[in-house]
Amino acid sequence: MSGQADQIAFALDRLSALRRAGRWRAGADFGLNPTQGEILSRIAVRPERAAELAAHFGVTPASMSDSVSSLVAKGFAAREPDPADRRAQRVAPSAKGREAARQLATAPDAVTAAIHALPGRDRAALLAALVRLIRGLQEARAIPVQRMCLTCRHFRPNVHDDAARPHHCAFVGVAFGDADLRLDCGDHEPAPAGEAAANRRRFDAA
Ligand code: SF4
Repeated sequence: MSGQADQIAFALDRLSALRRAGRWRAGADFGLNPTQGEILSRIAVRPERAAELAAHFGVTPASMSDSVSSLVAKGFAAREPDPADRRAQRVAPSAKGREAARQLATAPDAVTAAIHALPGRDRAALLAALVRLIRGLQEARAIPVQRMCLTCRHFRPNVHDDAARPHHCAFVGVAFGDADLRLDCGDHEPAPAGEAAANRRRFDAA
């Protein structure tokens, strides 16, 4: 690893540790540990099956089942039939869970505040670089596929002449720029592998 890559990885470690400490504090008000808070935040975007949650968080199904049971026991979530296959169950937030997720998402966070303070151009460049980084790790099978634009069948990268908003979301029919790329979108639908690879090439070509 180069010295520069080491420095970037170190910075990401520090930022992650700071975020996690903030989540401990914010989640403690609700009796949630950071993992339970992250699960709640994810299902508040879109309910998911426990197996999908286990894959996303890189834990065993048994461990995820324990976390989900704890959320259910505390009244933050419920298991319900999955509309896509009513024989399967998915985990959805309760009204109390949605409110907790909303408050967790808006809890004061030093990292988010510092990112907000960056010039807009720097924020957009940082987000685009992180999207590429995460996609590269996904392609290397180091982390599971995220609900991100680069893997979404609705994503059309660099199809508009507007340099500020070159991309297109076919789901909502709007043009958008790097600053609005999504890493966890509730409307995400996985693109076929060939289409995702073509999107990556068009995205990188700009
Ligand atoms: S549906 Fe969401 S993930 Fe897909 S392209 Fe639109 S904003 Fe991105």
